[in-house]
Amino acid sequence: MNQLERLNQLPLRDDLRGQHPYGAPQLDVPILLNVNENTHGVPADAREAILKAVAEQLEGLNRYPDREFTELRTALAAYLGHGLTLDNLWAANGSNEVLQQLLQAFGGPGRTAMGFPPTYSMYPLLASGTGTAYAAGRRKDDFSLTAEDAAAQVRAAAPNIVFLCSPNNPTGTALGLDVVEAVYEAGEASQAIIIVDEAYAEFAHDGTPSALSLLPGRPRLVVSRTMSKAFALAGARLGYLAAAPEVTDALRLVRLPYHLSAITQATAVAALRNSDSLLANVEDIKVQRDRIVAGLAALGLDPAPSDSNFVFFGGLENPHAIWQGLLDAGVLVRDVGIPGHLRVTAGTEAETTVFLDSLASLLKG
Ligand code: PMP
Repeated sequence: MNQLERLNQLPLRDDLRGQHPYGAPQLDVPILLNVNENTHGVPADAREAILKAVAEQLEGLNRYPDREFTELRTALAAYLGHGLTLDNLWAANGSNEVLQQLLQAFGGPGRTAMGFPPTYSMYPLLASGTGTAYAAGRRKDDFSLTAEDAAAQVRAAAPNIVFLCSPNNPTGTALGLDVVEAVYEAGEASQAIIIVDEAYAEFAHDGTPSALSLLPGRPRLVVSRTMSKAFALAGARLGYLAAAPEVTDALRLVRLPYHLSAITQATAVAALRNSDSLLANVEDIKVQRDRIVAGLAALGLDPAPSDSNFVFFGGLENPHAIWQGLLDAGVLVRDVGIPGHLRVTAGTEAETTVFLDSLASLLKG
């Protein structure tokens, strides 16, 4: 009996039967450029500060942590600026959990969430896990999405939740704020919660505005962020959002008690106090990202404009063969299942060189 057959013998929910878990391959490869982590590591001074902050928590670890993570919310509000205060902030174990809590509060049976694929592959999975229907919107052939088109689709589908991912994963490109504004207005009729997933915001080109600037006067707008990418803390699991205080009150109804451990809170607060050091590598990552875009174009491939720490590129006759060839050369990239395309995370300068050189020889061969 295989694993699927064994699973199907359990009294599993009907809507979960036959589904596959989220999972990028987890392989032991020297150069990991497949899940858009920060490849530049945690700087030594930030590590020291985190270690000290965590050590200070140990004596009180017999007690539950601050259920309201007040210090963390205050620090996150200060980091984001835009006049936000702790009442606008919420956090959970990764932005995946933040998004799940939003679906628990505003989705659920009889309700619909809408996304615009290709986009972050967890949106439909989070919808299905919370019994929420998922409506897939459409993009143009070049994966772009205009304000007019997105708004018309939202009006037609009348969803309860809309996911706008900006910069978008896997394409890497940021949306204009006109799209967010138009979708917000189009969602008025169905009172849709509009979630702008800005997991990669810190890597955007200078002058790319954040949807945080649209929050005043828009109680159905939510901007989600994470410390997994620019802050190099994917292993710490800290995602957060900014929204009207009533949105965070709604999330208090669905979160588990004490969902953020004292260790997580201390780690994140210490990281925010050392944000200058942690974010210092963002500029180099952007340099490597732009180098990849230029390098791929020079190889005759078709990279999408990227505001993130990864590049999505087309023009490959056999992406799977290239994926395998790169793996054989010790470089793991991501096949997101879009014909002719692969996605690669910006590495360190040395990693990026190995990627570009290996790809060049594979294409020649
Ligand atoms: N949103 C997007 C667009 C992502 O790409 C990711 C992770 N790859 C997440 C959210 C979730 O990240 P985390 O849970 O680590 O915050």
